[in-house]
Amino acid sequence: MKLANVDGRAALVLGDQIADVATASRGRFGSDPMALYDRWDELRAFATTVTAPTGPLVESALRNPVPRPRQVFAIGLNYRRHAEETGAALPEVPAVFTKFPASLAGPFDDIVVEGPSVDWEVELVAVIGRTADRVPRTDAWSHVAGVTIGQDISDRHLQFAAGAQFSLGKSRRGYGPMGPWIVTPDELGNADDLALGCSVNGDTMQDARTTDLVFDVPGLVAELSAVLPLLPGDVIFTGTPAGVGVARQPPRFLRPGDTLESWIEGVGRIRNLVVDGR
Ligand code: ZN
Repeated sequence: MKLANVDGRAALVLGDQIADVATASRGRFGSDPMALYDRWDELRAFATTVTAPTGPLVESALRNPVPRPRQVFAIGLNYRRHAEETGAALPEVPAVFTKFPASLAGPFDDIVVEGPSVDWEVELVAVIGRTADRVPRTDAWSHVAGVTIGQDISDRHLQFAAGAQFSLGKSRRGYGPMGPWIVTPDELGNADDLALGCSVNGDTMQDARTTDLVFDVPGLVAELSAVLPLLPGDVIFTGTPAGVGVARQPPRFLRPGDTLESWIEGVGRIRNLVVDGR
């Protein structure tokens, strides 16, 4: 199942068409995508009965499929080759920060650069579909509603100001594009081995597989839920692979006019135009 946010309304994606969830269910489910994560199992069962679309899929109408998560977890240094390129040792426990929820954005929204050191970080984002409290890794995927593409856009200057403030440096408005939709794990083949990457103006900058993760999705659900409960609709930005701009020689950052495209195997693509905020 693929669940999208179409102009603020939850919709199932059926090929190149959509079925509006509230319309197709005759009001059994509401239109707010966020409310559906609390009824995920019920929605999954309902979705299997939906075959008739209610309209075409229009890319420009797609918004963030998880617009108001209660908790946003983000993981640093979680790909082996990315840890190498930064010169940091592999963490023994996940390196966790947050992106404040108001920084999240849609899959085709513009990225406003307000300085010279704004960087890309393509990431697999896992969305919680069932409250996860002390969940062992063997049971972890059953608590995940699905995955989507995220860009953990990072203002490197702000991130490393005042010592280090990852959460603020990665939370400028619009610095968390997500989408284009949520894909349930059953549609992914091997959900623990997905290709992901991103390009700037067509030049590939990141190109990796999630098998390079230090803590994979089940590992993160287990580690995080051992500390606190994960709630339906919470998102986990699972970390970025090698190829970020700050680690390149010479460094390369996002500039107005750039087009950032990001992809994950089995999920799709998102695209963001970089614009000048000054
Ligand atoms: Zn990141």
